[in-house]
This record gives sequence, C-alpha cells and structure tokens, in this order.
Amino acid sequence: MTTITRAEARLIDLEVETVRTDAVQSFLKQETLFVEVETSDGLTGTGYSYTIGTGGGAVLSMLREHLLPRLAGRDSREVEAIWQDLHWSTHATVVGAITSLALAAVDTALWDLRARRAGQPLWQLAGGFRREVPIYDTEGGWLHLSTESLVEGAVDSQRRGLRGVKLKVGKPSITEDRQRLLAVREAIGPDMHIMVDANQSMTAAEAVRRAAAFEDAGLYWFEEPLPADDVSGHARLAASTSIPVAVGESLYSIGQFRDYLHRDAAGIVQVDVARVGGITPWLKVAHLAEAYNVAVCPHFLMELHVSLVAAVPNGAYVEHIPQLRAITRSQLQISDGFAIAPDTPGLGIEWDPDAIDDRRVA
Ligand code: MG
Repeated sequence: MTTITRAEARLIDLEVETVRTDAVQSFLKQETLFVEVETSDGLTGTGYSYTIGTGGGAVLSMLREHLLPRLAGRDSREVEAIWQDLHWSTHATVVGAITSLALAAVDTALWDLRARRAGQPLWQLAGGFRREVPIYDTEGGWLHLSTESLVEGAVDSQRRGLRGVKLKVGKPSITEDRQRLLAVREAIGPDMHIMVDANQSMTAAEAVRRAAAFEDAGLYWFEEPLPADDVSGHARLAASTSIPVAVGESLYSIGQFRDYLHRDAAGIVQVDVARVGGITPWLKVAHLAEAYNVAVCPHFLMELHVSLVAAVPNGAYVEHIPQLRAITRSQLQISDGFAIAPDTPGLGIEWDPDAIDDRRVA
C-alpha cells in the first residue's frame, strides 16, 4: 500500500521576481528541481529543491542516475531509513551542495506524502508549536539599491506590518555601509528589527571592524560575515560584538551546525531546508539549536519554511522573498507581520502544473 512505485525528477528554470544582488553574487534564475513520488495506493508526494542559477543540471543527474532508482519498492513511510540509505549511497560526494540539494528534493516529497497520508498540515505533523510566525522583509534591501530606495523599502515594509528588514552590506566603503544603515534606522525608528547580510564577503578582521561601526544602528543580526568554512573567524567575531552572528544558508549537514554551535560561533541559525538535505535534517538542526538556546530563522523558501518555523519552539522568523508565485496557485498568507502556515494536508503548496511544464528545461 505504501510502497513506492514511481519516482521522477524534472528541472525548471524559474525567472526571478525582482533583481537581487549582494556583495558576491546575483540571483540569476531559480533552477527548481521537482521530485514526484507515487505509492502503490495511488498517493503522490511532490518535493522540491533549488539553486540560484548554477548546478541544477548536476542535481538532476544525481537524482536520476543515483538516488531515484534506489526508491523503487521502498516503504514510503520509512523516511529516515530512505534518507540514510541515499546519503550513504553517495558517500564519496558528501558533505556537498549537489548531494544535499538532491536529497532535499526526495525528502520533501516523502514528507509531503507522509503529511497527506496522515491528513495533517506539515506544521502540525513536524511538531506543531504555533501556526503564525513573524516575517521580515529582504526584498527592499539589495546591495545595488540606492540609500533612498532602501529607506523607501523599509518604510513600506513597516507600513505593511512586517517586523524587520534585511539590508545587504559589503560596499567598498565602510562609511557608505554605515550611512545606509543609519538612514534606514532613522526612518523606521528604534523598534523595528534591522538585519544585515555580508554574504561571506569579509575577512574576520574586517568583519570585526564593520560590526563595531554598525553597533549604533541597533542591528538584530549580522549574517554570513565570513566564508562559511571559517568557524573560528565567526567565533572570534561573535566574541567581539553585541550583534548576534547569523549563519546557516551555506551549511550542508547537521555536523556543520554542531561545529558552529559548539564553538559559540552562531547566535542565530538560518538552516535552509533545501541546502541541508530536506526536512529530516532540518528538524534535527532546529532541535540541536534549541538545546543551545539559539533561535532558528531559515534562509529563503518562505512557502515551505513557514510550516517548519511553525513546527518548532525556537523558530523566530520567516524571510519574505516571494519567488514561487508564477508556478503556484496558493500564496503565503501574511497578516499583521505574521506568516500563517497552511492548514492543508502536505507541504501546503498548491503547484500549478501547466506553469511548471511551460518552464521545464529537463
Ligand atoms: Mg544571506
């Protein structure tokens, strides 16, 4: 009844909804991987994963050539066993982005199936802490925007009831970075949260210097100041500043999160369900962070993360970056600064099959 009879993957190119730049890159297009899993009783689960423009073909190959053939005949309810089997079957390429992204597409499909079978929304099945979670805005804070645009965007977010805004930093001049932050702070007042994100562009020494210059802007967190593999640099920065250090969008395993937490190198964890390998490891990271009394504010993918943040007691924020509107019939519900987790069984994302087909590249 619950045996997997079919597993298929496809790749679509999804256009970006707005121009997005940071200190090191642009969001070119959302290469979106879909995995569909069907069981012998006719139930179907749909999962997905993504890149911001490169590597999607490699993820698709990993799925088609190595992972999906291993699903036939498996009991779809044994999500942990399947995750472990797939992980160990590709052991020579883990820990790594391609494998984690491929695993996530399979794992989210199995969770969709599991929740549909249980007749429960994901947010309840995965824990069920609270249905409504605070949301902050990133769409008005890209690095190419002028200070005037940043201020306009932040004021608009405040008018819409959002609780925080994220601004990219990493301009060549520290003075310019600082002036942009202070202009926004002055416009929105003392209480709304401002997060900053350097996208791994700095050395530890430079990040310590910038954090000191940002102190009086009252920042809520300083995100990815350094390359993600520089754990000791993050620990040094965290010890030097009152601004919480946020990391996680570029970490690909639960062990990498353990290293950060164990060394007091992260004050906010931004685990991304696609990049960490799916819902199965995402929940482990969230619970690990809880044990360290650290909040979880996942990166991107608001349509799925809303249900995961709602599932756990230490989920603090969902990031507002709408990017699925062209290929979905449902939309994330937002009310008075809170995102509301869908209450339909499954992941709670209603895909538009025709719109997906139109964008299919493989
Ligand atoms: Mg970021």
